[in-house]
Amino acid sequence: DLIPMRRALISVSDKTGLIDFARKLESRGIEILSTGGSARAMREAGLTVVDVADVTGFPEMMDGRVKTLHPAVHGGLLALRDNEEHLAAMEAHGIGPIDLLVVNLYPFEETVAKGGDYAECIENIDIGGPAMIRAAAKNHGFVNVIVDVQDYDALLAELNEHDDRTGLPFRQRLAQTAYARTAAYDAAVSNWMAGAIGEETPRRRAFAGTLAQGLRYGENPHQAAAFYTTGEARPGVSTARQWQGKELSYNNINDTDAAFELVAEFDPASGPACAIIKHANPCGVARGETAIEAYRRAFDCDRTSAFGGIVALNQPLDGATAEEIVKIFTEVVIAPDADEDAKRVFATKKNLRLLTTGGLPDPLSIGMTFRQVAGGFLAQGRDNGHVGADALKVVSQRQPSDGEMADLMFAWTVAKHVKSNAIVYAKDLATVGIGAGQMSRVDSTRIGRRKSEDMAEALQLPLPLTVGSAVASDAFFPFADGIEALADAGAKAVIQPGGSMRDAEVIEAADRLGLAMVFTGQRHFRH
Ligand code: 5GP
Repeated sequence: DLIPMRRALISVSDKTGLIDFARKLESRGIEILSTGGSARAMREAGLTVVDVADVTGFPEMMDGRVKTLHPAVHGGLLALRDNEEHLAAMEAHGIGPIDLLVVNLYPFEETVAKGGDYAECIENIDIGGPAMIRAAAKNHGFVNVIVDVQDYDALLAELNEHDDRTGLPFRQRLAQTAYARTAAYDAAVSNWMAGAIGEETPRRRAFAGTLAQGLRYGENPHQAAAFYTTGEARPGVSTARQWQGKELSYNNINDTDAAFELVAEFDPASGPACAIIKHANPCGVARGETAIEAYRRAFDCDRTSAFGGIVALNQPLDGATAEEIVKIFTEVVIAPDADEDAKRVFATKKNLRLLTTGGLPDPLSIGMTFRQVAGGFLAQGRDNGHVGADALKVVSQRQPSDGEMADLMFAWTVAKHVKSNAIVYAKDLATVGIGAGQMSRVDSTRIGRRKSEDMAEALQLPLPLTVGSAVASDAFFPFADGIEALADAGAKAVIQPGGSMRDAEVIEAADRLGLAMVFTGQRHFRH
């Protein structure tokens, strides 16, 4: 199954490495067919190239929409070389075999990412390219197909090894990669269209990503892993520029995403906000007059857990804040930007990864999230739920004060980003105790309280900051015991979705204990 290579068709939008590669093909006596721009680039470099238009007898037309869609091309790619009938058809119609197809597609994903308008995105949907890729990949028994500049060297190595021929396992691998590319390409088109037309339902959606980066390992060192992007133009870990530090790991990427999505909830127009994340849960979130103050207050929620964490800011980093952050070991820092002072400070910590994104993701925008289950995966719309002031219902006898109300909303926003069961204690727009990921809501209330008590001891405060705090619960309280536990911790106000069978009992407990209670009517489970 070693097959010689005599004729190649090259049609590439990304012309990186093209000339060098084409020269090496030419030096092996391989004839090169090509389309407009690719042919021009190769000729300018002194290569001999046959125009596809001369092979098809048709000029490229309709702004390049129709270039290679012709039996002279597709017959050459699809004909079985060991089938009498196919050979006869080639003979009868003057079709020559094509043994190598090199295509990379119109840059659809890049056009979306750089914010191209509707017409521009549509024009960047490649038609002839995917058609040829799929044809060549189907006929991998005889044809080699390259869709990625990265594979040029692999092909040359294969030709070297096998005396200018390629083996079936090699062509199979190329074909498999080729179908991954066309699947991801069409998924990117479908996902972009869903956003463009405001289609929020995950039904009738295609899911695939483009390989962004192979990872050294997954959640644990014995698990293989890779990072795929979906082409969604959402500022964050997938689009960020990394200034320094080791390569991001699987867990880094996951936690950095959690940190940045959380901090993006806080509009920088209303001031700085900082989130510190460990194991995808916040160990502290705070607003502040300045970035450094926001960081310090977030850090003071749970100093122990913040060690080795991920720090996210909703505004550009300055030198003073950077100085404060590098006082403890931090894995990743992510922010929309960082000034020169900040970069200089971080540069003293070689292992710290600094990422800048140029902007914040919109917390209200639609999108998809996925969860794998054995044999499949679940898809759902992003949790972009938001409760406005008019949706809130005070159900207790006592009205929350303005300050309590501000803390309730702050805690509620943070709770959306804490694994269920989530309990978030907040005071003066900083978390002061977070209970995450427990099977019992009462346990989450206890954990948040205990963390606050530990910090009070460490900081030599007279009382834990849960005393006088406002608390958010991501889902309703099924019994009054959770409310009793919060009151016991000194909390003064509670925000929760409501909707339990025992709401009356829960409200009665709040009234008895003097707590203000607000219902949101919306739940924020996160698992
Ligand atoms: P060039 O720069 O050589 O003019 O164009 C290369 C690009 O055209 C490649 O990305 C290739 O996938 C794409 N292409 C090749 N044939 C066709 C076709 O018939 N229709 C469309 N829309 N694109 C094509």
